[in-house]
Amino acid sequence: MLLKNKCAMITGGTRGIGYAIAEKFIQNGASVAVCGSRPETAQKAYEKLTSNYPDAEILALSPDLSNPKSVKEAVDTIKETFGSLDILVNNAGISARESLYDYDPDNFKKIMDLNVNSIFVCAQAAAKIMKEQGGGVILNTSSMVSIYGQPSGVGYPASKFAVNGLTKSLARELGPDHIRVNAVAPGITNTDMMQAVPKEIIEPLINTIPLRRIGEPEDVANAFLYLASDMASYVTGVVLSVDGAVMN
Ligand code: NAD
Repeated sequence: MLLKNKCAMITGGTRGIGYAIAEKFIQNGASVAVCGSRPETAQKAYEKLTSNYPDAEILALSPDLSNPKSVKEAVDTIKETFGSLDILVNNAGISARESLYDYDPDNFKKIMDLNVNSIFVCAQAAAKIMKEQGGGVILNTSSMVSIYGQPSGVGYPASKFAVNGLTKSLARELGPDHIRVNAVAPGITNTDMMQAVPKEIIEPLINTIPLRRIGEPEDVANAFLYLASDMASYVTGVVLSVDGAVMN
């Protein structure tokens, strides 16, 4: 029960890594607001979570993450319903793998809008509440490509380098307000995002991972649990790799 009486907002909480974080947080005593891109997907995750954890306090929301007004309404709803907002997990993200020569500039903007701008917007809204409360935790989902780059689809690694920059800078800015800011950088993880990548690309990659397997969403969720909890009370500004020591 590492998160007893804590209240969390998780963007991209309806499936994959975000859903695993929601489950892990609930199992550890937190109240959780899962945010999805559409009301239907948020509702579906809500129904699955409430049927598995009938005693948990759960909310389903679908704010437009790049719109400050919509995000403010969401954080206010969480604060009114749960009584506080202690943990924000900025996990929603999209990727693309086009070569630079074929890259649609609108797609580059779309990736930056969700993977970077939404973190700024959500962190700003949540930090105002956390500061008033006397502290909190902001966690961001980065990626192994934030360290090495990747050989195509430049928007995605560029966005994750920016996630690390936001993490380290906000840790320095918000530390005096007792708000810790950290990121988790997953390696190849078994979610819908990865299922979209062809097997011919994934299988040779597995042999390059020292632990010889891809990660499961729960491997990543465990790192989020640690960073969200008081076990990490003196940890801020860190990008924690959870990638089986992949070098790619
Ligand atoms: P996923 O595609 O399974 O889930 C993505 C989540 O983001 C969903 O909950 C979806 O509702 C939400 N989302 C997508 N577009 C949105 C939008 N416009 N507005 C609001 N929410 C939106 O992906 P995943 O693999 O679970 O990825 C989660 C995070 O982990 C992402 O930030 C991703 O970049 C990162 N990541 C994933 C891997 C991997 O191998 N799966 C590796 C490294 C990092």
